[in-house]
Amino acid sequence: MSVLIYAESWEGKFKKATFEAVSYGARVAASMGTNAIAVTIGDAEDASILGKYGASKTIHVGGVSTFNNAAYASIINQVAANQDANTIIVAATNNGKMIAPFLAVQAEAALITNAIALPSSTAPLTVLRSAFSSKGLVKYQSNADKNVICIVPNAIGVATIEADGTAEESSVSADASLKAIAPEKVERVSGKIALPEAELVVSAGRGMKAPENWNIIQELADLLGAATACSKPVSDIGWRPHSEHVGQTGIQINPNLYIAIGISGAIQHLAGVSASKTIVVVNSDPEAPFFKAADYGIVGDAFEVVPKLTAAIKAFKANN
Ligand SMILES: Cc1cc2nc3c(=O)[nH]c(=O)nc-3n(C[C@H](O)[C@H](O)[C@H](O)COP(=O)(O)OP(=O)(O)OC[C@H]3O[C@@H](n4cnc5c(N)ncnc54)[C@H](O)[C@@H]3O)c2cc1C
Repeated sequence: MSVLIYAESWEGKFKKATFEAVSYGARVAASMGTNAIAVTIGDAEDASILGKYGASKTIHVGGVSTFNNAAYASIINQVAANQDANTIIVAATNNGKMIAPFLAVQAEAALITNAIALPSSTAPLTVLRSAFSSKGLVKYQSNADKNVICIVPNAIGVATIEADGTAEESSVSADASLKAIAPEKVERVSGKIALPEAELVVSAGRGMKAPENWNIIQELADLLGAATACSKPVSDIGWRPHSEHVGQTGIQINPNLYIAIGISGAIQHLAGVSASKTIVVVNSDPEAPFFKAADYGIVGDAFEVVPKLTAAIKAFKANN
């Protein structure tokens, strides 16, 4: 029995979440006394790179151009069956979250979503997962023969584990009936740091008063190399694109640093950002609920605080 990891790529490049999933799978495989095998689908860079993260072998399935969750799941399950893998690891990216339930249903496997730690036991498989929008933790124990674990990006970290990293081609393909639904058009926000994978995020809310005031947010984000995000009302009224909306009904993120500027900290907003490792809040109202969730809080006017913060970081960078 081996452990199979779906090694997701985007426009031919592996994502950071892929390296994290592979190194997670390698450590799960080690604790099971077996091998970690990665599978890539469609365009992907040199697969031997995954050896650095513990994949003893990477299987590439070519001839697939468009993403389709059911078809991808079928291909991964076929590779899992060929490799005698009963544990499949998927990163909870947008695509990973769409594939994982299909994988579990097609393979009649148990599905553990939102995994945030390595299994504390592999027999029975016991994994810690976050629940209720990261407000709770659940230790999930599976007695199933087959398991799919969907891991939260940036929760466990990438580990470098040297393995042989051989590459192999496979010609498995999905049944045509599974391709019944296909995306009509894929639009990508270009030239920006992808929010779900960002390690640093500068986010702003209605406290910024107007869209033309976002230049100070953008300047701070650019200086830090951070992605930009916003609260729901800000994207609802069109001040910022919907792709930046974080929270319960938006993107859920867990960066290393989340700077929230002029955001009240409503429960629906916190639901998407409270898993951030360090939260800095800038708000003129000392009673703003966000301060309760903050690691660092600055009570002050964003239009005074943010330029000062930017100037201080510039000065720090110039001297270091
Ligand atoms: C079903 C449902 C789902 C929702 N999902 C989401 C979601 O996914 N994400 C989300 O964000 N919201 C969501 N909401 C909305 C949420 O309840 C809040 O209304 C929203 O988060 C508030 O946005 P805000 O903090 O930007 O604005 P406000 O609540 O208006 O807060 C603005 C903040 O800026 C501060 N401020 C004002 N001026 C300044 C200044 N000059 N300097 C510094 N601070 C200043 C104020 O003190 C205030 O705290 C949802 C609501 C519902 C009902």
